[in-house]
Amino acid sequence: MSPRFSQFGERFRRPTGALELMSDLGAATSGERTYLLLGGGNPARIPEMEQVFRREMARIVKNPDEFARLAGYYSAPGGDLRFRTAVADLLRRTYGWNLSAANVVLTAGSQSAFFMLFNMLAGPTAEGRQRRILFPLTPEYIGYGDLGVADDLFVARRPLIQELPDQFFKYGIDFASLAVDDSIAAICVSRPTNPTGNVLTQTELGHLDELARQADIPLILDCAYGPPFPDIQFVGATPPWNENTILCLSLSKLGLPAVRTGIVIAAEEIVTAITAMQSVTSLAPPSVGAVLAHSLIADGSILQYSREIVRPYYESRARQAIEWINEFFAGLGVRIHEPEGAFFLWLWFPGLPITSAELYRRLKDRGVLVLSGHYFFPGLEGEWRHRDECLRINYSQPAEVVREGLRHIAREVRRATET
Ligand code: PLP
Repeated sequence: MSPRFSQFGERFRRPTGALELMSDLGAATSGERTYLLLGGGNPARIPEMEQVFRREMARIVKNPDEFARLAGYYSAPGGDLRFRTAVADLLRRTYGWNLSAANVVLTAGSQSAFFMLFNMLAGPTAEGRQRRILFPLTPEYIGYGDLGVADDLFVARRPLIQELPDQFFKYGIDFASLAVDDSIAAICVSRPTNPTGNVLTQTELGHLDELARQADIPLILDCAYGPPFPDIQFVGATPPWNENTILCLSLSKLGLPAVRTGIVIAAEEIVTAITAMQSVTSLAPPSVGAVLAHSLIADGSILQYSREIVRPYYESRARQAIEWINEFFAGLGVRIHEPEGAFFLWLWFPGLPITSAELYRRLKDRGVLVLSGHYFFPGLEGEWRHRDECLRINYSQPAEVVREGLRHIAREVRRATET
């Protein structure tokens, strides 16, 4: 039989950046071939954090009621209520936000929260108009780009590029070109941003919040890497929240990507809509993360672990990776986005004679997996050479892997520039 797929089926069968990324990750971890894995979004294995999670899991396994809660029941369609209450309490205690469990919904990873949010807010309206999600600054997260059930769901803007001392630069939002009219259904940013490690300033965020409120649309703030946890953010910045913000958190980057736990903090109407959609598509989200992380959230120790273990770990890894770049890339004119958070370095090679997609292929042939920058401009129209001149490097893997990978990348860029 050769199945005939619907438009919906065809849409999700096609090659996408997310599929390439996750397939590379699968191949690299299945042992089919040995790769130096500098692609993908997998967090590091941090021994101190693994110890905390193993301790919690051992406690749960020994307690029949806790184990049943983890594996033996469907949770409520919005997710385990005890965990949602603990999240609301933690955020109220820490930031003073006026929240209850009714403002919190769990999803099977935050990726699926974006799928629901984007499609329930944007797309064709009942009046036959098309509304879109606005990414006010690209480069932006690769995983957003293919989430639309309908075509043409996203619109995006180029950034301003601020030159910084040494080889660094920083992207900023070009507010002069940012008109938010009635065709925009929501504004969405990741902070810290995957792929660049950019942390939008408080002023930029304040301005976006103002624009969103004026247009009466939500501001979706993706804090998968940011505070309150895992808090992989090297510049101080508190996440803002108000009834107009949809804050998306995740347990993944703490070191728990396989438990698939996304946490959405939003006005009750949004929470209710996600809950309803989730009960149709998956009955209930997984409870594993909610039970595993409950006591860390309830006693607030998750904040301390994030601040004292997770963040310093990645900060020192970023410094180390930059030293290796300085060592290997001398004379290649590489520019690095200021690493302010997350666990990626965004490298820009102005005037690179081949595209970053070709560079990705050549590196893969040599056993090095990175991500080509061109995927990170979802919704951006028009030609722009810059998007074919960048690579994203994940520096969270063991030191020798990152060092060796960077050495190969430098060699390949040198080869491309000299021939
Ligand atoms: N948002 C950003 C910016 C990400 O980088 C990722 C994963 O890499 C996600 C969301 C989705 O993460 P998860 O579905 O594991 O919560």
